[in-house]
Amino acid sequence: MSRIDETRILVLGGGIVGCVAALGLANNGYAVTLVDRQEPNITRGKFDVDIRNVALSPASQQMLAKFGAWDSFVSAPYRRMHVWEQWGMGELDFTAEEVGRQELGWLVEVSPLLCALWQRLRSQHNIDVKLGEIAQADFGAVSSKRVSIAFVDGSEAQYNFVVAADGAQSFVRRVLDVSVDETQVNQVALATVVKTQKPHQHTAWQRFGIDGPLALLPAQDQHTVSVVWSQSPNQARLRQQMSEAEFCADITHASEHCLGEIIAVDQRLCFPLIQQRVKSCLPHARALLIGDAMRVIHPLAGLGVNVGLEDVRGLLRVANHGLDLATPGIWQRYVRQRAQRSASMIRMLELLQKAYGNPNPGVTLLRNMGMQAFNTLHGIKQQVMREAMGLGPIAQEN
Ligand SMILES: Cc1cc2nc3c(=O)[nH]c(=O)nc-3n(C[C@H](O)[C@H](O)[C@H](O)COP(=O)(O)OP(=O)(O)OC[C@H]3O[C@@H](n4cnc5c(N)ncnc54)[C@H](O)[C@@H]3O)c2cc1C
Repeated sequence: MSRIDETRILVLGGGIVGCVAALGLANNGYAVTLVDRQEPNITRGKFDVDIRNVALSPASQQMLAKFGAWDSFVSAPYRRMHVWEQWGMGELDFTAEEVGRQELGWLVEVSPLLCALWQRLRSQHNIDVKLGEIAQADFGAVSSKRVSIAFVDGSEAQYNFVVAADGAQSFVRRVLDVSVDETQVNQVALATVVKTQKPHQHTAWQRFGIDGPLALLPAQDQHTVSVVWSQSPNQARLRQQMSEAEFCADITHASEHCLGEIIAVDQRLCFPLIQQRVKSCLPHARALLIGDAMRVIHPLAGLGVNVGLEDVRGLLRVANHGLDLATPGIWQRYVRQRAQRSASMIRMLELLQKAYGNPNPGVTLLRNMGMQAFNTLHGIKQQVMREAMGLGPIAQEN
């Protein structure tokens, strides 16, 4: 097998997935250039919490800790998850004790995490961080030896291999004319932070409503909760326009008072939701798509970053020992695994959305019976939980 020479790997995109990929590749001995349009800065709202939060699994936490980007920012553990629905009596409870752990995962503020990751990037001698945008990328024929990149500022560079972590609207995907399979979601996620009357008890609350799921996720402070509320664009627009008092009353009602009254709310942001995936994450011998550039998953399962970091874990298993990343055949198994994993997750979420979006009494009954039965199947439940935490055999294999 051929070895790398002095040529660099380009990681395009300094989101969470791109940063961890760059740190991992540098750790495995590669010279890396990471390019992003802008450097992150900490953005916190009126309750001193970032409105953008992500729930991270223990497997993701381990990875961030491995690259020294865990201790330096704020994260809040959740120890229990309670799931219920608008139409029936079915409820699901997941607790950390059931799987012999202290926590099921952590709610992490995105901007402080990104700043911590960028600080790590800047401290690595074999990572070059470049702020800028790509004007042109020439991948050439499959047999070409380099990828030529022209930046908007007029500079040019050549790279041995490109790892595209450039998000849902990936530039690399566009340049290589990669098609995506898209499922119409027709929802937006309304995200905000609220203050609650009752303490959250380190519990993640998720209520499936006919319009979409409402998640209330515990922040560090016992009376502060991060909200991700998927719903139709029209509903979201109305809820954005409501006064603070109206919105608080509305969400108190929708959450069925599980945290008592919602007493205050921060700015309400809306994110359009899409669900899409590419067939192959290796559209060219010198380009690999990871994270949201490869697939975008509905946030109801809190999986996007977690699955993106799984991409990185698999990538680092291949990209090791100085192996030239354009060596024919080395990605075959990885590409197959990532395609299967993306397809199965998107199918599972489509199924959940369909099942919970259906108020038909027969479907409701079946759903409720299924939930009750699942709650009593301890062995299977534990296994499902371990997979969701990224610690089960399927997640680890990926
Ligand atoms: C409301 C909501 C809630 C969510 N909750 C969760 C959750 O609880 N848990 C979870 O795991 N996931 C969650 N997700 C999903 C998660 O946010 C995404 O999966 C994740 O941010 C994807 O990370 P990424 O690094 O792949 O892409 P991005 O975060 O999109 O990063 C891409 C980066 O590339 C840069 N870039 C793009 N194009 C160019 C270019 N041409 N030149 C230079 N730079 C470029 C961008 O500036 C950006 O920094 C949620 C998503 C939403 C919308």
